[in-house]
Amino acid sequence: MEPDDYPQVTSTTASLRGVVSRWRTSGETVALVPTMGALHEGHLALVNEARSLADHVVVSIFVNPTQFAPGEDLGRYPRTWNEDLAALAGRADLVFAPSAEEMYPEGFVTSVHVDGPALGLEGVHRPGFFSGVATIVAKLLLACLPDSAMFGEKDYQQLLVVRRMVADLGIPTEIVGAPTVREADGLALSSRNGYLSADQRTVAPELHRALKAAADAIRAGAPVDAAEAEGRRRLEAAGFTVDYLEIRDAETLGRARDISDLRILAAARLGTTRLIDNIPVQRPSSKL
Ligand code: AMP
Repeated sequence: MEPDDYPQVTSTTASLRGVVSRWRTSGETVALVPTMGALHEGHLALVNEARSLADHVVVSIFVNPTQFAPGEDLGRYPRTWNEDLAALAGRADLVFAPSAEEMYPEGFVTSVHVDGPALGLEGVHRPGFFSGVATIVAKLLLACLPDSAMFGEKDYQQLLVVRRMVADLGIPTEIVGAPTVREADGLALSSRNGYLSADQRTVAPELHRALKAAADAIRAGAPVDAAEAEGRRRLEAAGFTVDYLEIRDAETLGRARDISDLRILAAARLGTTRLIDNIPVQRPSSKL
């Protein structure tokens, strides 16, 4: 890879704004891909999607401390800066990699609180998580003011929270969702998969299999409660500790009452590693 394929790197909001405003003056469009680094093919699919939508691609790499609760994995979260830059060579124009002080200067006391899609599921099991996410995403969008920003369906609830927040605050960026990239055995790619032991890694794809089995049950006409209970039982039998496995309205994440467009979402732990995944399912209209 030629060094001049490497993206430009900036760590301040002021210099990010300078570069983006030069592009804008030339009438060029910009797409942002927010990440916490430790990039894998899931992130790169978002970058490729961004490339297809805009003239310029900005990737932010920031391990956001406010979305980690005390006792979570902030300290050991993987940091692979050199590999990340090499992976972005030829794909991204600019990497925005601010320090924690740049994003949260002394005296910082503001946070963005989202209700609606942020209630329940991750919102219950990771208190404060979505405020951390909404605050940093709002700051990144306001720093870059991109035409579009890419988010993975892997974090489906987060995608809906960001969409809601952007609509409610009137931020003029289109939020684009992209499908989950998986290993051949179905395990969703995640920067946290590296925490799994060899034994846990063989069990981990059972999470996706349990979601698919629940989707099959719904398609065959099973009641939501029964499909959820069977999914949880299956995960526990495989050795997971289940935080939740729930079947929700795909648009609002409200209860799946008289709705055909559903999403099955789960979070479950193997040892100290917490995995999340979700898939869509259509309920047959005769069962509504
Ligand atoms: P993260 O670095 O984990 O905060 O993720 C940054 C972005 O990449 C988020 O929008 C995630 O939803 C997305 N992402 C993470 N894993 C995947 C995956 N396996 N497939 C697609 N997108 C993903």
